[in-house]
Amino acid sequence: MRIGFIGLGIMGNPMAKNLIKAGHDLTVHDIVAERIKDVTSAGARAGSSPQDVAARSEIVITMLPNSPHVKEAVLGSNGVILGVKPGSVVVDMSSIAPLVAQEVSAGLAQKGIDMLDAPVSGGEPKAIQGTLAIMVGGKAEVFERVKPILLKMGSSAVLCGAIGSGNVTKLANQIIVALNIAAMSEALVLAAKAGVDPELVYQAIRGGLAGSAVLDAKAPMVLGGNYKPGFRIELHIKDLQNALDTAHAIGVPVPLTSEIMEIMQALRVDGKQQDDHGGIIQFYEKLAGQLVRGAQ
Ligand code: NAD
Repeated sequence: MRIGFIGLGIMGNPMAKNLIKAGHDLTVHDIVAERIKDVTSAGARAGSSPQDVAARSEIVITMLPNSPHVKEAVLGSNGVILGVKPGSVVVDMSSIAPLVAQEVSAGLAQKGIDMLDAPVSGGEPKAIQGTLAIMVGGKAEVFERVKPILLKMGSSAVLCGAIGSGNVTKLANQIIVALNIAAMSEALVLAAKAGVDPELVYQAIRGGLAGSAVLDAKAPMVLGGNYKPGFRIELHIKDLQNALDTAHAIGVPVPLTSEIMEIMQALRVDGKQQDDHGGIIQFYEKLAGQLVRGAQ
């Protein structure tokens, strides 16, 4: 299968490499030249633009930061829409606003092209392992055609509904992840200031009801003072903004989402927006005057 891949950042790079390992013929593009080089040295061909990538591919995957980037790469000048051939499918795996996924899909539909929105969860480690959780919106028959490709990048791919449903599901995911990290941070700072070793607190609770995938992914990082992304706070702010906009547009109050958004805004003002979202703990450490790392 000839696959195009646009957006070769923290996530797109290992996802594209897993498709190459699975034997697919990849044409790739990014606006940063070194990111293309890294993936072509693993066996892909370079495309000169999204249009060029689409012209050479049966499935075009995008993995870009946010809604405007996807709109530009798919519908803009030199965009996918100008090169894509009848019968091809566009799969946007970025996390974007559900309404924009619908808008981009409607633009492609005018040319008779189907689209899925298929954002992912699991972060860089699962992107490297090819074990992402993939949440999909679109037509069932298109999903069934593309599913074997998705399962080269993930260990699960669930069709959640019509186009846009993948990103609604992702917003739900991002609310749960952000609030879990905040709860973990609040609790570990409390333990540290009360004089109990937060490492031992983590070991003691991880097998109980408070245990979670978030705790196991983020507690070892924050206990080691490691905030290297992973998933940057600035990208989580983007997802929470999309969650707030979507929720308010349909009349759903989301009080805890507002709270964690303001915590992330405070971290941004503090210059921490490039840190991994595990870095949320730094907000609590500052409030309490207590570091978790190295606490006994
Ligand atoms: P990233 O910033 O590392 O990568 C994005 C890439 O897109 C960059 O290489 C950038 O140069 C490229 N790009 C931007 N505009 C472009 C354009 N018009 N044409 C071609 N390339 C363009 O971001 P990431 O961490 O890989 O995240 C990508 C998406 O996946 C985001 O929507 C993010 O929210 C989501 N996501 C990230 C993670 C994570 O842990 N990093 C986890 C799940 C989902």
